[in-house]
Amino acid sequence: MRTALVCGAGGFIGSHLVKRLKSEGFWVRGVDLKFPEYSDSLADNFFIGDLRDMGFCRTVFDCHFEEVYQLAADMGGAGYIFTGENDANVMHNSAIINLNIAEVCRLGEVERVFYSSSACMYPAYNQDNPDDPNCREESAYPAAPDSEYGWEKLFSERLYLAYSRNHALKVRIGRYHNIFGVEGTWRGGREKAPAAICRKIAMEPEGGTIDIWGPGTQTRSFLYIDECVEGTLRLMRSDFTGPVNIGSDEKISINDLAQLVMKVSGKTLTIKNIDGPIGVNGRNSDNTLIKSKLAWAPSQPLEAGIRETYRWISDQVRLNSVVGASRVLRGSEISSSDKSIGPSPDIFGSTVAPSASFLDKQEELILTLPEKVEKLPKYYKFEKKK
Ligand code: NAD
Repeated sequence: MRTALVCGAGGFIGSHLVKRLKSEGFWVRGVDLKFPEYSDSLADNFFIGDLRDMGFCRTVFDCHFEEVYQLAADMGGAGYIFTGENDANVMHNSAIINLNIAEVCRLGEVERVFYSSSACMYPAYNQDNPDDPNCREESAYPAAPDSEYGWEKLFSERLYLAYSRNHALKVRIGRYHNIFGVEGTWRGGREKAPAAICRKIAMEPEGGTIDIWGPGTQTRSFLYIDECVEGTLRLMRSDFTGPVNIGSDEKISINDLAQLVMKVSGKTLTIKNIDGPIGVNGRNSDNTLIKSKLAWAPSQPLEAGIRETYRWISDQVRLNSVVGASRVLRGSEISSSDKSIGPSPDIFGSTVAPSASFLDKQEELILTLPEKVEKLPKYYKFEKKK
């Protein structure tokens, strides 16, 4: 049976990737600090633990994997990575995860590894003009990312490439450009622009006003999650190491994105542009390389993905306002925002035991405790019920 490991399987892209790999018949192991927030993981087994811990990484890599997807990172939207307040954590946490994973891939039985880089590694000097940003893959150097998040991505790209050269590890590197879609973070400070705008518009009554950070003339492109997963699998199974952009080339200003969401919502609102972190002035995926190497590129119009995402976020907003703001709803109205539920996301401490109520929620999985339980177990392993 084909086997895959998804690091960051409790996150947005990772949880969608697990679903897709399962639909292709893979046996899948997921690993993360937490389970996915909005639906149960379909992984065959799922480790809850800290990938900054090399001992834990060795445990996770204890069998042969045809495909390893490395998506775990300390990340968030502009409100998390561009304010400067989280720089040390972002660099330290993500770099250690990648140093550990590159090494356990070398030590273990891994056929190939995919690393999720980001368009944030492109130099700021090529992205001053919102109408004509340059994000061709070869424009990465001389390096000058505008955020520490981007510098860490660049470092880790180089790390995986070095392992590829020195240890013959088969590496694939995708540079994601603003991925969005259903079951993504939509509140709490780590959400990205499409989700934040959908939430603001869903919450605002007709005729109201929404705040948009910056002048609103800054441009970006946004890729719907399904095409992100498709591009990731195609790159992984290709002969090209990368790095390759995985993004849409449908560039749009942030104010126009807000107008598009309003159109989808059927509401007319006023946009108020306020001070806030915005990142570079312009960014767009250049898809020349992906077309030439994979004979494929994302093609879905932005509006189609926005329709899906707005529908899902407005449902979340509506259901939350019905049952109270302290609850997060999954498909069947399941609460998971209670802080006592699930292993602690405090990644500096030991993982805290999941409560019984949490285990009830993740109905498909049963808990297997590590054989050697120290004072506090370092990780938890969940197996699908037979
Ligand atoms: P996400 O935050 O939803 O998922 C990342 C997951 O990593 C989280 O579930 C988190 O709990 C897990 N994680 C963090 N630290 C960990 C640790 N120490 N041990 C175990 N797990 C840990 O992010 P996402 O949007 O799914 O992004 C996935 C990857 O793609 C990330 O590497 C991100 O930098 C990259 N990326 C995403 C985008 C985007 O628009 N979403 C754009 C560019 C690059």
